[in-house]
Amino acid sequence: TDLAGLLAAKIRDVPDYPKPGVVFKDIAPLLADAEALAALVDHLAARAKALGASKIVGLEARGFILAAPAAYAAGAGFVPVRKEGKLPGGCYRQAYDLEYGSAVIEVQTDAFLPGERVLVVDDVLATGGTVEAALSLIERAGAELAGVEVLMELGFLGGRDRLAPLLGDAPLGTV
Ligand code: 5GP
Repeated sequence: TDLAGLLAAKIRDVPDYPKPGVVFKDIAPLLADAEALAALVDHLAARAKALGASKIVGLEARGFILAAPAAYAAGAGFVPVRKEGKLPGGCYRQAYDLEYGSAVIEVQTDAFLPGERVLVVDDVLATGGTVEAALSLIERAGAELAGVEVLMELGFLGGRDRLAPLLGDAPLGTV
């Protein structure tokens, strides 16, 4: 599609980042491009509206950059899911596995109204572990998951297999 072409031209492959053997998908050129940023944010906002989501959850940190303007454009609220220890007050916690070791993410216990429909947004889906942990937080916080939207999927890591029924068609699909 035109959207995919516009966005794909602005993703930069960075070899050996953050460690040898990994090719990192750098979205900074996309964020810096007014036309590409607007097209991506508009796409996410349209998905939120179509799914009837009244909150958009952004996953720290690049998810925040996309979810907050999409929430504004959709007339929805924004909720951050953060690495542990960053959010004040009562939080739900969820541990998940990383390639090496594990991590914990959190959401505030009062982030959602009961049964509220929620769209989860992040930039890149890799193993799907981060999104899966976020879904557990949303469920425990009493909201209803409306969908998951990412800019692109790293297909060789199997994230789609883990999340298929929930995941929209990423603009850049599987790379
Ligand atoms: P997962 O939990 O699916 O394995 O990893 C996804 C998380 O790692 C996302 O929050 C995403 O921002 C980050 N991530 C993993 N690989 C990349 C990459 O190549 N580029 C970018 N921009 N983010 C990545």
